[in-house]
Amino acid sequence: MFIGHYGPALAAPRLVGSVPLWALFVSVQFIDVVWGVLVLAGIEQVRVEPGFTQMSPLDLHHMPYTHSLPGALALSLLAGGLYWLIAARERLAGAALIAAASFSHWLGDLLVHVPDLALWPGGPMAGLGLGTICPPHWRLK
Ligand SMILES: [Zn+2]
Repeated sequence: MFIGHYGPALAAPRLVGSVPLWALFVSVQFIDVVWGVLVLAGIEQVRVEPGFTQMSPLDLHHMPYTHSLPGALALSLLAGGLYWLIAARERLAGAALIAAASFSHWLGDLLVHVPDLALWPGGPMAGLGLGTICPPHWRLK
């Protein structure tokens, strides 16, 4: 799905022409960039489990801040807010577009991830697992 996240970034410049493509590219990966930082800091966790899915051996078992629904919404608003601070024109429309592009990351992950996306802290996990084979213990009950 990594490359799939760029689809919204490529389509978005038609909506607000002043938003540069580089900003959209950064925004659609913003959640994963923060995830990488939090994994390196030991705050979120991932483990390598060979055969976890056909697509990836990564078991993303603890990512409550970046890939939970409220976390993704908050990070998307942060991305939009950061853009609003640096934008020269069409600030509000551009910030909204950047926030939407950032949140599209979570929607894309929802399609392809096994159920490892918390809908709220301590809540049920979501993920349709399209394009992967989900081990039975990850399937929604
Ligand atoms: Zn992600």
